[in-house]
Amino acid sequence: MRYAPSDLPVFTLTTGPVDAYPAVLRGLAATVLYDYDPAFQATYQRVAEKLATVVKAETMPVVLQGEPVLGLEAAAASLLGRGDVLLNLVSGVYSKGFAGWAARSGAEIVELAVPYDRVIDPAEVARVLAERPDITVVAACHHDTPSGTVNPVAEIGAVVRRHGALFLVDAVSSFGGMAVDAESAAIDLLVAGPNKCLGCPPGLTILGVSNRAWAKMKANPQAPRASILSILDWEDAWRADRPFPFTPSVAEINGLEAAIDLYLAEGPEKVWARHALTARACRAGIAAMGLAIWPAEERFASPTCTAVKTPDGIDEAQLRAEIRARYGVVLSSGRGETLGKLTRIGHMGPTAQPLHAVVALTAFGGALNALGHKVDVGAGVAAALATIDAG
Ligand SMILES: *Cc1c(COP(=O)(O)O)cnc(C)c1O
Repeated sequence: MRYAPSDLPVFTLTTGPVDAYPAVLRGLAATVLYDYDPAFQATYQRVAEKLATVVKAETMPVVLQGEPVLGLEAAAASLLGRGDVLLNLVSGVYSKGFAGWAARSGAEIVELAVPYDRVIDPAEVARVLAERPDITVVAACHHDTPSGTVNPVAEIGAVVRRHGALFLVDAVSSFGGMAVDAESAAIDLLVAGPNKCLGCPPGLTILGVSNRAWAKMKANPQAPRASILSILDWEDAWRADRPFPFTPSVAEINGLEAAIDLYLAEGPEKVWARHALTARACRAGIAAMGLAIWPAEERFASPTCTAVKTPDGIDEAQLRAEIRARYGVVLSSGRGETLGKLTRIGHMGPTAQPLHAVVALTAFGGALNALGHKVDVGAGVAAALATIDAG
């Protein structure tokens, strides 16, 4: 009888939501306290203080009560108004999509776009800013997940700061898995989420806000207040002696504390290193099987996701279905423009362990062979192991 995994996946190696850390699940299961109980107010402030050490914004982090799309929409609504000129740096599906929320504000949108297998050149950003001195906000997506490509946000941030505009960055799928923080990239509004590299379930947004960004939001008559979309409502909510604008997600905050404790205990540099090693092992295996990554150059490739080009003659949806049915491994598809053209192997949080690359490569290669596209799975595994053993 042929082996068939059960209905539930054996390995979820996706680009989010990801398998949560067991310690996070235990955190989520903690007693649900009344939000104004002093014990919960103290927890909330403690979580904000721990987050602050890694977000590194000028002010205390804000936690919004919804997965990070809420944070992105709230950021657009709060920061932008009629009279603003937004430079939207488009390198993929998420950065393109940001324009949809930005447009509702009535701001003028200038677009600098590259093909979705490439990344933004900071010199191009400088050129556009010199042409349009009236640009007030620049938006970028650090890791545009549906392409598995990483933009040089620190270099772009330095250019934006020199120009004087505010810099808004979607760091949802990079934060916690590689080096990015508000300080080092001169980010005025950093949008992150615990549901990717921090290994939590989806449900919260983490924001890092500069003093200039607070000032701009407060001066913006269009910025939402008394709304689920409001950032302004939450400015002082981190303080144990201040009221919440409405009930925070108590269980999610407990889960987030467990995740941030794990992250700090292991040490961010070590966490990033295992994400990077897992991705390197995965790319080595992909190349050894005669397959190609989606990014045009390896230096554009993400440490938190490996996007593999779909070989000619293979149906991408059928490939993932085969991987799932044969081996119980779940991988992510492309999105929008990249849908059907690539498959994504996530290396995020608990799945950013080098040997998970071997699991993904084995399942990927095995399913390709079954579909008639012959690859040498042994060569892929050997290349991945060699990379892992070399550290
Ligand atoms: C996951 C992710 C988000 C959040 O969006 P969902 O698709 O709703 O999970 C936002 N930006 C990026 C770059 C992401 O990877």
